[in-house]
Amino acid sequence: MEKDVWANLHPQSMCPAFGGLRVLTRIDGARVCLVADQGCLYGLTFVSHFYVARRSIVAPELMNVQISGGTMIDDVRAAVEKIAEDPAVTFIPVVSTCVAETAGIAEELLPEKAGNAVVQLVRLPAFQIKSHPEAKDVAVSTLLRRFADFDGMRREKSLLVVGEIFPVDAMAIGGVLQRIGVESVIAVPAADLEDYVEAGKVQACAVLHPFYERTAALLEKKGVRIVSGNPVGASASGQWIEQVGRALELDMETVQRVAGEERRKAADVIEKFNNLSGKVIVAGYEGNELPVVRLLLEAGLEVPYASTAIACTSLGEEDHRLLSMLGTEIRYRKYLEEDMQAVVEYQPDLVIGTTSLDSFAKEQGIPAIYYTNNISSRPVFFAAGAGTVLGMVAGLLGRRDVFRKMKEYFTTLP
Ligand code: SF4
Repeated sequence: MEKDVWANLHPQSMCPAFGGLRVLTRIDGARVCLVADQGCLYGLTFVSHFYVARRSIVAPELMNVQISGGTMIDDVRAAVEKIAEDPAVTFIPVVSTCVAETAGIAEELLPEKAGNAVVQLVRLPAFQIKSHPEAKDVAVSTLLRRFADFDGMRREKSLLVVGEIFPVDAMAIGGVLQRIGVESVIAVPAADLEDYVEAGKVQACAVLHPFYERTAALLEKKGVRIVSGNPVGASASGQWIEQVGRALELDMETVQRVAGEERRKAADVIEKFNNLSGKVIVAGYEGNELPVVRLLLEAGLEVPYASTAIACTSLGEEDHRLLSMLGTEIRYRKYLEEDMQAVVEYQPDLVIGTTSLDSFAKEQGIPAIYYTNNISSRPVFFAAGAGTVLGMVAGLLGRRDVFRKMKEYFTTLP
């Protein structure tokens, strides 16, 4: 086999089903019934406890004997009944992963309700859903399709915000939306199943991350106006506020005043970092990397290469166009090997990447930090977000020399 062919088979991301489990296990009263073989079950239980909600996951045994014996669906039904014996359980998501989906789970053979709980099948096979952000989209759209009240009265000036965001960003968005006259805001993924019901009554939806394609398509079909993009950086902050204002038919004079204020505040913060210079590579697998790149470019940094685990989507089209125009090479559904090649080729001053890429960059004496822990765990929206991200990047860019000396020290050791 050609070297570049086998190299690209390197495992690139965690099991996509993790993204769906993250959304589902965080719902109050939910207890997941996971239909997966034992190896998958072990891994998914581990990451769910570690990164998600420390909730129990119940699973029927799924081995060759159950698949070949044709008892899988009966075993799933028995597991659902067992879970439903607990009266505190109000929602049982049945999550079917690769093996179960290959064997085939017929949704009509599952109960719609068991005990006090509603039951919903969520299909998350990795051969269809390639990354964990996209599995979040599948989970959210499945919940909306089942629970959202699309037939009731629409609430005037109401907005649905889609996307997991840092709590400070949620507060910042809430504050801005209130100032422009938005009267009610619902956010998903949510901890309360009722929010998925209410989500059907909104007038417009701001999809903050580009991988929520199925969710956006469903809402659009139901007559909800879609606002794409997000308030990261100065010009996008102003633009996002104006788009929300137009989608909800708010008083545009007020909207434009607030948009102008937020644009200026973010621009002032970015201006404070105008002495920044350097080459940065951004390579995550969260699906929200491109807006961060946009902010770095706005601050005058060079970003020759950016990559993400998700596919190129129409919701991210504007970022794609802008970044390409400004000279960033963008890779969707990237491979670790492509990211490593970019580090070798561009010799950046800083890598904001995945753990494997970071180790590789550090071995070359290049400062590197983990995208998920450092970007997804801090605000990125409006002026405050610009300040925290650029402040962190400024600190790291100053360390190139330290890393170089460290590498020299270790490579010259006798
Ligand atoms: S086989 Fe499928 S469900 Fe199991 S860990 Fe791999 S990607 Fe996840």
